[in-house]
Amino acid sequence: SAPPRPTERLAPADLFLAVKTTGRYHRQRLELLLETWISRNLQQTYVFTDGEDKELRKRMGAHLINTNCSATHNRQALSCKMALEYDAFINTGKKWFCHVDDDNYLNVDALLRLLSQYGSTQDVYIGRPSLERPIEATEMLSASTEMKKVRFWFATGGAGFCLSRGLALKMKPWASDGAFMATAERIRLPDDCTVGYIVEALLGASLIRSALFHSHLENLGLVSDINSQVTLSYGTVENTRNTVNVKGPFSVKEDPTRFRSVHCLLYPDTAWCPSSWRL
Ligand code: UDP
Ligand code: MN
Repeated sequence: SAPPRPTERLAPADLFLAVKTTGRYHRQRLELLLETWISRNLQQTYVFTDGEDKELRKRMGAHLINTNCSATHNRQALSCKMALEYDAFINTGKKWFCHVDDDNYLNVDALLRLLSQYGSTQDVYIGRPSLERPIEATEMLSASTEMKKVRFWFATGGAGFCLSRGLALKMKPWASDGAFMATAERIRLPDDCTVGYIVEALLGASLIRSALFHSHLENLGLVSDINSQVTLSYGTVENTRNTVNVKGPFSVKEDPTRFRSVHCLLYPDTAWCPSSWRL
């Protein structure tokens, strides 16, 4: 369905951008983001990690959030981070919460264009569904023997997604101050599914599908019109690189993720983009 008419003028300061990472990816992944899209958006970006890092702390100050969540890839550890991203957003009073992974490039200008079509006081949950049909979960109800099947859509965390403040506030009973982890346990599904469960199954709102969000689960070589995309990603499948296909100033060898080339394409006057590229 067509989005409603523009309702508010959005500025970068209206956004709360949460990046999920982990200690061993600070150099391997986060560094690239700090040099590219985060460098232009430090004021609204918060990095959620699981270990202290003196050098990162120096660069980001209070924008580096050490969650003390466990540094493992299990359901509890990941929903622990999402819970803290949510709480931090609620405390800032910003209009929009957007989550990305540390292998996402976020085009903040495209994001502002997208979100300005919606109202932050309306119920908005927007992203890319990772499955072709709704996920089915078994809900454990308070009496431990009671179980119920529920079906709902969710936005895949690896492509990034956003929530309006209006909707995020309604999620409070199931998401704030530790409730999020309990909710994730109730359906025994990952953090991104839990967000979909709260929004769709518990609150009756619906995911707005957007083809502008991208994870490495899709064939990124097929993405065209890079300027309009909200998120990009990269990955490897069976030893072949899955990246966006951009010419840009850097070779695949110099820029295997293609994020530096994308950044120069979007912001050619960046200091480290070759000057020949600027003309
Ligand atoms: N991650 C994390 N803890 C871990 C492993 C991964 O917080 O122990 C984060 C990682 O930094 C990334 C997200 O979880 O932001 C997804 O990880 P990854 O891209 O490695 O996996 P996939 O996309 O295949 O789920
Ligand atoms: Mn990933």
